[in-house]
Amino acid sequence: MRVEVDYDQCESNALCMGAAPEVFEVRDDDFLYLLTEEPSEELRDKVRQAERLCPKQAITVTG
Ligand code: SF4
Repeated sequence: MRVEVDYDQCESNALCMGAAPEVFEVRDDDFLYLLTEEPSEELRDKVRQAERLCPKQAITVTG
């Protein structure tokens, strides 16, 4: 599984972090950081939920 974020679309509202904090982190500088671009398989449900929750459709999950 591979995760990509369109940072031009991201508004740093941290909804993805709420769903999958192992993968998405909005830091004090108000930017989103991907902690891993290739999350382990057991995180698939959480990552998919983050993808669904993102109001900007900024998250793409492949694989
Ligand atoms: S949910 Fe979407 S818009 Fe919000 S921080 Fe995550 S990627 Fe950015």
